Amino acid sequence: MKILVLNCGSSSLKYQVIDMDTRNPIAKGLVERIGLQGSVLTHRTASGAKEVFKTEIKNHTKAIELVIKQLVAPEYGALKDLNEIHAVGHRVVHGGEKFSKSVVINASVMEALKDCIELAPLHNPPNIAGIKACQRMMPGIPQVAVFDTAFHQTMRPLSYIYGLPYEYYEKYGIRKYGFHGTSHKYVSQRAAVLLKKPLSELKLISCHLGNGASIAAIRGGKSMETSMGFTPLDGLMMGTRSGALDPAIVTYIMCREQFSVDQMNDFLNNKCGALGVSGISSDFRDIEVAAEQGSHRAQLALDIFEHDVRQFIGSYAAVMGGVDALIFTAGVGENAPGMRAGICKNMDFLGINLDLEKNQVRGEEVDVSKTNSRCRVLVIPTNEELMIALDTLELTK
Ligand code: AMP
Repeated sequence: MKILVLNCGSSSLKYQVIDMDTRNPIAKGLVERIGLQGSVLTHRTASGAKEVFKTEIKNHTKAIELVIKQLVAPEYGALKDLNEIHAVGHRVVHGGEKFSKSVVINASVMEALKDCIELAPLHNPPNIAGIKACQRMMPGIPQVAVFDTAFHQTMRPLSYIYGLPYEYYEKYGIRKYGFHGTSHKYVSQRAAVLLKKPLSELKLISCHLGNGASIAAIRGGKSMETSMGFTPLDGLMMGTRSGALDPAIVTYIMCREQFSVDQMNDFLNNKCGALGVSGISSDFRDIEVAAEQGSHRAQLALDIFEHDVRQFIGSYAAVMGGVDALIFTAGVGENAPGMRAGICKNMDFLGINLDLEKNQVRGEEVDVSKTNSRCRVLVIPTNEELMIALDTLELTK
């Protein structure tokens, strides 16, 4: 059985066709610069062969049309016929409080998705455009929405209500939602498999450390706390996002720099974080190289990131009353042994004892803690596409 997984951004579209018998992708690719000059589709076959198509791609419908054309092209051999696709799973960024799990898309779900646009004006409209395009291009094939926020809907009010007048939660939906839920859910399920214990008995701290980064406290398979908030800006300092700030800084900078609301939004999302501190790059590989070459600002960016992660680990262990396993995932979490070592340093008070030799892995699913470590330390490559495909299959079987 084959599932098409789609992740539509404002000007991009990522896709994978996953064979659910093997759980491996049989085709995948990326459309970039949708609606802009220089649109391009990069398609990869199961063998890894890459084809690049440069052509005008005006909108998401056109992009999906082009993707389907490559998927059924005899020379790439992914599908003989579009009807081989059992269902389509869409990544949807924001499900607000309306969606605490994935859903089969129907007319009332579409209405509810539109209601969530206010909460994610940049992300939800392209997600909806992708769904509409698929409904047009693949009538009769079920579509499922899988939300980044859904996994965190198990948080308690004491975790998600901010110190604002309560009416602002009621009127505007201002609360902590949390993101990266699909990734946190996937790695927590894999952790239970690796640890050979039921998820319901585990206290886990999942560190999704990539260009966007968030941490979640997961008890019994349920998200209790997470570091991102009303938007993905909150929590850890990230590649280009500031992370948590004293809120007064926002108005102070707006006054001093004469920034409009849009400029301030762009500033906080795209010009801050490790990029802003280091002044070099948002990419942790570049920052590591610069730090080795003596840039003290690059070193400071790495130190702040490490320190932020450690603070969340400590606080989440306190909230859960302990931790059975720490999970590292995403670009930095999976591939940066030095960062993992820094984060786990002097954490034996929590039972965390990293095995520095085992820790030299990159991108593999492995336990990197010492045999006698009370808290296991796991590196688990995330696979949001597979998680979306699994949810989609479950709901459309
Ligand atoms: P993601 O958003 O999950 O794709 O992660 C992207 C981030 O992971 C970028 O900042 C990369 O620099 C970082 N990353 C990828 N590979 C490595 C590596 N080998 N060492 C350090 N950082 C890495």
